[in-house]
Amino acid sequence: MARLVQKFGGTSVADIDRIKAVAARVAGSVTAGNEVAVVVSAMAGVTNQLVGYVSAISPLHDAREYDVVVASGEQVTAGLLALALQELGVAARSWLGWQLPLSTDNAHGRARIQGVETDEIVRRMARGEVAVLAGFQGITADGRITTLGRGGSDTSAVALAAALAADRCDIYTDVDGVYTSDPRIAARARKLERITYEEMLEMASLGAKVLQTRAVELAMNCGVRLQVLSSFADLPGTLVVGEDEIVEQELVSGIAYSRDEAKITLLRVADRPGIAASIFGPLADASINVDMIVQNVSPSGETTDLTFTVGKADLERAVSVISGCRDNIGYADLRSDANVVKVSVIGVGMRSHAGIAQRMFRTLAEKGINIQVISTSEIKVSVLIDEVYTELAVRALHAAYGLDA
Ligand code: ADP
Ligand code: ASP
Ligand code: MG
Repeated sequence: MARLVQKFGGTSVADIDRIKAVAARVAGSVTAGNEVAVVVSAMAGVTNQLVGYVSAISPLHDAREYDVVVASGEQVTAGLLALALQELGVAARSWLGWQLPLSTDNAHGRARIQGVETDEIVRRMARGEVAVLAGFQGITADGRITTLGRGGSDTSAVALAAALAADRCDIYTDVDGVYTSDPRIAARARKLERITYEEMLEMASLGAKVLQTRAVELAMNCGVRLQVLSSFADLPGTLVVGEDEIVEQELVSGIAYSRDEAKITLLRVADRPGIAASIFGPLADASINVDMIVQNVSPSGETTDLTFTVGKADLERAVSVISGCRDNIGYADLRSDANVVKVSVIGVGMRSHAGIAQRMFRTLAEKGINIQVISTSEIKVSVLIDEVYTELAVRALHAAYGLDA
């Protein structure tokens, strides 16, 4: 007997038949003698629709009310799945974030989990009752509903698994595991049997939406055993594990891409101490995250160009913040470009092997793809390129690193 947390994403609960299929799967685990807690997402497309409603009424909306609206999708699926389980003769009860409670800070729209109360559901699980938790949502100390950022049900599941000291947290989705690249655009991507927390963390934060970054972070910190697998098939999935559990480490484990970035270039910025602070300070004050930054050396020592990236969703705000500080910064012109994509090569093998970045640059050059910005860390190299080359770049790199199936 094991204690399991099973999380089902949007496509896995997309309609009534899918919800019934999920109930049958959960019932099977219960019958096999396991203690099961389930976390559900909203039905596929529902969260996007709710976000659309909010933007249609109030483009620069109050984040507290945004959370009230977008959290509602998960309430529906939690109730429906509890009913579907009951129909199969399985005792089940739904739980909303506030009912557990799953407490968070008050960063609405991207709240961080502070604690999960499980005493009551543990008592009920011991009697064979399945707890069905609405993912993605929590509650602040002052009683307001929060959401955990897009894809946040993954994080709800990992937090619940950690609080329950579950034997495993299974993330059921529409792919049967973590692949060497997004199988939707790289047809020759291969399923990984195992991946380290660290690589998964990089993959997720660099755009692989199969797991929310915070979920991986939390699983790594709390030692939660994580598995990604399909709710549409009975196939073994991908295990996310510590480095010690991987026998032979590949040099490069995957290629990720993110279309969520946008580029801003400031032309002829004064090359003097304090200039970076005058640009990035106001952006930080506006809670705008900056990712890649390049600043050229100025030949004359007087002015230089500076390029950086922000989230696409923050582009308009970022441009308005920078324009508002134009006199203080002092630049000749501001150009912005939302038609960019960040493509990244990830692998812990980079720590010990040279030449990985070079292979990336050569491969892109052979395809005639111009690199606009480069950034590196210990286990990844990222480049910013024109968005139209996304598929071409991902597939070419996938082949160049010998990842093709
Ligand atoms: P869910 O609704 O179940 O949470 P998501 O859409 O959030 O599902 O995540 C699953 C999707 O992640 C897949 O359909 C796939 O297109 C995408 N994806 C991106 N990168 C990868 C990868 N490296 N491996 C597997 N899936 C990936
Ligand atoms: N329903 C939310 C979203 O679409 C949370 C999730 O699915 O994980 O982002
Ligand atoms: Mg998801």
